[in-house]
Amino acid sequence: MGSVFSKPSRRAFIAGTGAATLMTTGVFGAATRKQSSGKLIDEQSFARLEEIGDGVWAVLSTPVNANGGFETTTLSNAGLIMGDDKVVVYDAFFRPEGAAWLSEHAKKLTGRYPTHVIVSHLHADHCGGLAGFQRGSEGPEIIMTEVTRDLIFETYGKGEPRENEIFGRPPIRLLGPTQILHDESKPVSLDLGGRSISIDPLAGHTPSDLAVHISDADIIFASDLVWEGYFPNYVNAVPSKLVPSVKHLFKNGDNLMVSGHGGIAKAKDLDIYLELLEAIDKGAKEAHALGLTAEEGGAIFISPEATKNWIRFNPQYPTIAYQAWYRELGNNQ
Ligand SMILES: [Zn+2]
Repeated sequence: MGSVFSKPSRRAFIAGTGAATLMTTGVFGAATRKQSSGKLIDEQSFARLEEIGDGVWAVLSTPVNANGGFETTTLSNAGLIMGDDKVVVYDAFFRPEGAAWLSEHAKKLTGRYPTHVIVSHLHADHCGGLAGFQRGSEGPEIIMTEVTRDLIFETYGKGEPRENEIFGRPPIRLLGPTQILHDESKPVSLDLGGRSISIDPLAGHTPSDLAVHISDADIIFASDLVWEGYFPNYVNAVPSKLVPSVKHLFKNGDNLMVSGHGGIAKAKDLDIYLELLEAIDKGAKEAHALGLTAEEGGAIFISPEATKNWIRFNPQYPTIAYQAWYRELGNNQ
């Protein structure tokens, strides 16, 4: 994979006091989601760590705990993949404490600390914890796309950080990439020793999303291109690209999909997610054609029956989805 990455000198940047602008005001649904798909390795109030394949583990975050309180240590799901030479983590959580927790588990499970961390996209609950993988001057290679790096700098690296109204001001220290993926036109293979993974550049949830397919395990880590049990966040979405990206990921219905928020399911059992996305697309386009504002359209959006009870991190998520469509349709109402 050498030529597709560049290696800038390791540079870290401090994003002021840190901020998560990803999730604005709102309330969670009351439910605490707990889904078991593999062998339980550890369970904390904020997440479960499960073995889901040979040398493959998933972190399934539980952002709403049993008492109805918010758990922000990890917030998003993640993966841990072991090869003979490399130990790869996919996604870096919200807080460094979450990353440090997974890092110690990696050492116990694989005999070494993570050697590589792949950041799926710009959102703070997927990159805010990066510093937690560092141990003094030691730390993993950090892989992200050039677009994601620029968006992270743009969003968190300058100006006055905006305090997140749900989660407060996280003590995050953002780290820049050590390996930058410049070419998003095709997947990149990373040899872990005895197995390889395919890093697949896609878009839709944001302008630049990376999914990871484990070649010998029929497992795909999809991050926020796939949501399960939670209504998707469109705050930085490019909605015209989202459904095509999801269909690409779902091509083989037997692949096990690890969502960015929610559970794990075979692609063929996630049709209801696609149905929700298509309902959003249809509703937004119709509202736009009728001359409604995104707010007016979003307010009357009704999720398809099967996804009606999905938790909304923010009750305004349908409106935020419509706003994303309106940006693309050329009318910022
Ligand atoms: Zn996201």
